[in-house]
Amino acid sequence: MTEITDIMMTMEYGPAPDNADAAFAWLDAHGRTFGHFISGAWTQPAHLFATHNPATGEPLAEVSAGTPEDVDAAVAAARAAFPAWAALSGYKRARYLRALAKAVGKKARLFALLETLDNGRPITESLGGEIPSVVRYFDYFAGWAQLVGHAFPDRVAYGVCGQIIPWNFPTSMLAWKIAPALAAGNTVVLKPAELTPLTALLFAEICTEIGLPKGVINIVTGAGETGAALVAHDDVDKIAFTGSTEVGRDIRARTAGSGKGLSLELGGKSAFIVFEDADIDSAVDTLVESIFFDQGQICSASSRLLVHEAIANDFLARLKRRMNGLRVGDPMDASTDIGAMIAPSEVDRVSAMLDQGEAEGGRRYEAEIVLPNRGAFFKPTLVTDVAPTHTLVREEIFGPVLVAMSFRTPDEAVALANNTRYGLAANVWSENVNLVLDMAPKLKAGVVWINGSNMFDAAAGFGGYRESGFGRDGGRECLGGYLKPAFEQKLEKAPAVPAAPISSSGDVVKAVAAARKVSGWAGTSGAARAASLYRLGEGLEQRRAEFIGRLVSCGASPSEAEREVEATIERLFAFAGWADKNEGVVHDVPRRATVMAINEPIGVIGIAAPDEAPLLGAVSLLAPAIARGNTIVLIPSESNPAPMADFAQIVETAGLPGGVVNIVAGDSVALSEKLARHDGVDGLWFCGSAEAGAEMERLSIHNLKQVWTTRGLRFDWFDKPALEGDYFLLKATQVKNIWIPYGA
Ligand code: NAP
Ligand code: MG
Repeated sequence: MTEITDIMMTMEYGPAPDNADAAFAWLDAHGRTFGHFISGAWTQPAHLFATHNPATGEPLAEVSAGTPEDVDAAVAAARAAFPAWAALSGYKRARYLRALAKAVGKKARLFALLETLDNGRPITESLGGEIPSVVRYFDYFAGWAQLVGHAFPDRVAYGVCGQIIPWNFPTSMLAWKIAPALAAGNTVVLKPAELTPLTALLFAEICTEIGLPKGVINIVTGAGETGAALVAHDDVDKIAFTGSTEVGRDIRARTAGSGKGLSLELGGKSAFIVFEDADIDSAVDTLVESIFFDQGQICSASSRLLVHEAIANDFLARLKRRMNGLRVGDPMDASTDIGAMIAPSEVDRVSAMLDQGEAEGGRRYEAEIVLPNRGAFFKPTLVTDVAPTHTLVREEIFGPVLVAMSFRTPDEAVALANNTRYGLAANVWSENVNLVLDMAPKLKAGVVWINGSNMFDAAAGFGGYRESGFGRDGGRECLGGYLKPAFEQKLEKAPAVPAAPISSSGDVVKAVAAARKVSGWAGTSGAARAASLYRLGEGLEQRRAEFIGRLVSCGASPSEAEREVEATIERLFAFAGWADKNEGVVHDVPRRATVMAINEPIGVIGIAAPDEAPLLGAVSLLAPAIARGNTIVLIPSESNPAPMADFAQIVETAGLPGGVVNIVAGDSVALSEKLARHDGVDGLWFCGSAEAGAEMERLSIHNLKQVWTTRGLRFDWFDKPALEGDYFLLKATQVKNIWIPYGA
């Protein structure tokens, strides 16, 4: 007689294929051929290339490869639409965003079918996860469209935003980019990925259906060259990019000196840390979802397992069992866990990486399952016996491959987790609240998920540290990234300053080493940093007469000198005030989770102070960087370094830990170039000519440090409303979002 347990052991899901007829009908209605969507109309299809279903290899439709002329036409349309769109009331923009949300919701099934056909993701994930998140994104930013003026009274929209997205989540990436840009009053030209253009084209259609003013959203399809043309276009004011770190670097270099706003959401190599006391079965399940469910093609995939030594064997055994139960196959089948990779070439690339990993000593375990006999499928794979130097541990694989290592102590887990050039996400599993809250700030990642993984919401910022890029998608931080301070528009070109002959330059590399070595400064309380800044202000106050004399000897009149010293003391007090008030927030996300967005320092910031206002200029930059817990290498005014040399004594007597502020006088451009090249520097603020500023941006690409420059413009260092607010604080800060799900 058959036992129930036998049935349970052998029970199989029957196939439950969905019907994609509606998507094929839509493609047929367009003759399976598409032009670009520019100024509310379709262009004549030209330079056609096919987009395929990666699960079958079949061509789905032909789309146009955008030429520089197409990009030019789209940018012109966006430019023409911009004034009216930006001038529209926030309420009216909100109505349009809300209409987009509703229209996507109404066509959710069609979007999901097209997404699955074009990308290979299981239909259950498209329908149940991705498309609802798109609706939520437009709804959330509809609210901001109306509130943006209240939340950011002194900022204005950039203008025309060029947006470039990858193939892994075509529709949600589109929403992540377009919704905040429109809410802030920008118009956009979006380039979807070559491999997955279809849902963007369906989205274009609904722009017409809801009566969106023409030119507000323009979609130009094509490959990398089309994206490059958009990046290079002179009339684009901001580039928002999601994709690989390699292309991100290229875009940083190509936009150097252009003054274009830039946000880069790049690759990752995220750690999944499991402590002894974790809920092991939940951890295994969540890990499997995080690394395998989208074929590992998620930037934030948990691709590095770090498991406590005491439970490692048990954990890996349960993981393998779970891997063997995965169903890889037809993405249109509702019982499929894992669909196809994006293209056969990706299967080959990941296989080659695995071969290399094995050659380096890694041991490979493939899920014991049978793959369909055609299509771009890949077996979920686990690699053990790896070391931190192995390629598979260092490089982003972007496929269903997990590498596993073990650790003994929390400190070792942190060291392993942070041993990467990336910094997108990290996951911590433990039932011990003390432990997880101690770990979260130590992990160098833009998002930390506690007892969970890959949780996202429109209200919570998402984005990386280090070579995972800068800027955020989602939340208020993202909206702020689509706005610029109004005062910047009024700045005029600074007169050229004759270069002072510099006899010798100090050792900036030693200074960086000192700035990196300071331990614990970032972790000090805001109150402690406030006290330090107050002491700096009071120290200057005590030596006011001496500093006035110094500035006079630098060429200032006595009254100018007095005004500058007074303003510098006031500036130090302002940022002392900010130091313990520039707090994070708790996001309200529609699930049982608390999301703490905490403000963290960037790290080591190099500052090349302006030549004018040799005391106030330097302190205006130094103070917000200190307030936020950064350590600093400061190059004072080249022609008048003496006031800051004196200020170094005040820093010493104020009791700041050695290494927090390092002052190195010398040739400002030459020293800044060294800082721009240095991987130990995380941010660079450069005051100087436009040409030199451009060079700093170009030189920054190796570790993708965040660079701000004056672009040769003359800042009024006495302008309190502009410079005593969050202008520099924001540049001194990176936001970490810590997700803490709860519930008994
Ligand atoms: P990719 O090659 O960098 O492509 C991304 C986009 O840039 C595509 O639209 C691509 O066009 C375009 N592009 C390529 N070369 C360009 C150039 N020189 N100038 C301008 N645009 C150019 O990345 P992918 O392979 O599609 O996507 C995978 C990568 O994206 C992974 O590294 C992943 O980690 C990252 N990603 C990051 C996030 C995040 O939020 N941090 C999210 C998703 C993915 P084509 O499609 O025609 O090549
Ligand atoms: Mg495709």
